[in-house]
Amino acid sequence: MASDLAERSRRAVWHPCTQMKGHEAHPPRAIVRGEGPWLIDDQGHRILDAVSSWWVNLFGHGFAPIVDAITDQLKQLDHTMLAGLTHAPVVELSERLGALTGLGHAFYASDGASATEIALKMSAHSWRNRGLPGKHRFIGLQGGYHGETAGALSVTDIPLFREAYAPLLRLSATLPSPDLRHAAAGVSADEHTAACMKALADYLAEHHASVAALILEPLVQGAAGMGMYSPAYLSAARALCDQHQVHLICDEIAVGFGRTGTMFAHQQALDAEGRAIRPDFICLSKGLTGGVLPLSAVLTTDEVYAAFWDDLTAHGFLHSHSYTGNPLACRAALAVLDTFANEDVLARNRVMAASLSALAEPITRHPRVTAHRHIGMIWAWDIDTNDATFAARFHQLALDAGVLLRPIGNSLYFMPPYVLAETDMRHLVDCTLRTLDQVLAQTPAAASSAATAERLA
Ligand SMILES: *Cc1c(COP(=O)(O)O)cnc(C)c1O
Repeated sequence: MASDLAERSRRAVWHPCTQMKGHEAHPPRAIVRGEGPWLIDDQGHRILDAVSSWWVNLFGHGFAPIVDAITDQLKQLDHTMLAGLTHAPVVELSERLGALTGLGHAFYASDGASATEIALKMSAHSWRNRGLPGKHRFIGLQGGYHGETAGALSVTDIPLFREAYAPLLRLSATLPSPDLRHAAAGVSADEHTAACMKALADYLAEHHASVAALILEPLVQGAAGMGMYSPAYLSAARALCDQHQVHLICDEIAVGFGRTGTMFAHQQALDAEGRAIRPDFICLSKGLTGGVLPLSAVLTTDEVYAAFWDDLTAHGFLHSHSYTGNPLACRAALAVLDTFANEDVLARNRVMAASLSALAEPITRHPRVTAHRHIGMIWAWDIDTNDATFAARFHQLALDAGVLLRPIGNSLYFMPPYVLAETDMRHLVDCTLRTLDQVLAQTPAAASSAATAERLA
């Protein structure tokens, strides 16, 4: 039974990455309130937000420090353009992100895909300004995801998107992914990682003169189904990019802000001296505002910044968005950074993660689970089924059970906000196990599955 709101939404709202026909059978839930990790729909059902509302929410819904910061800012300055003007929230945020990453120049947009666009354009334009205009091609990884605008899609390797939009794009080179699930039978994790490093080394040796940048998601390829890989690959990628005068763009949009156990995922990769590697660009969004307001940032180095420093306007970086550096969003981001500084979020997450890992043991041991992986506040399991509707059906039944989970293909994952109580974790695991058995027990009717099969979940 669709609520009135859900019914009106179905007619007037075109939902993201959704085959709208699927809403005939499964209208969207109308959410009216958020409380911590919980969403409450207009029928009063409580749904545990175990995917952090598409990986954005860090501290639950209605987190007081963020609410207070935005409210305070709203009374002073709601918005001002950022060309020719500036304001304290954007200055302070840029300084603090610079101090956290060692990349002292911040450029802003409102979403992750735009951050990807900015990093790609900035990289190629900086080579051009440095007298190397031939370096304007990009490298992405197999299964990589960097957003869905035309430029971001050109470095994104999700087959469904590639098929539909390839003719619109100037596709990047796609190199083998270090995702350990791709290791062939009999090939060890180290051997697989080494083979992927070699593929990158070979490609760069041959093509470096035309390559501006390598873009990748450090440690976890989210949209590929939470594929995880060794930091050794990142270390090698950094060294190879240096060797061949190619930028390394770390897309931390999903994994930044503590998701993998460190503030930023790339910080787990060390260089030859044992120091954390430093990318040439870092893309941030999603958790940047705690999942409350749209904001993204691209951080870069003095070297890249210097390449644009000139009297000529044409040598400046030519890019702008209307809401660049919105003060409300910057204040939300500052409240997030304050929370990391004032509470030991990373240590608290380690304790939470240990509890959830222990409680989730029965999922890992489930007879239909073929692969299990975990890092920081991300857990993933691959399910043995050839039912193309698995993800969509799991999503629906999990909602009925009271938990928001959206498997990607056969990969079921948790990516919860950092505020789960013990009872929340038990609810999550119980609902997951129940839903898993329910979904796997049903034989999908081949005829009715066509519409939902197309739907991403
Ligand atoms: C979500 C995501 C993006 C795109 O961000 P949007 O705000 O959805 O445009 C880019 N890269 C990664 C790794 C992401 O997870």
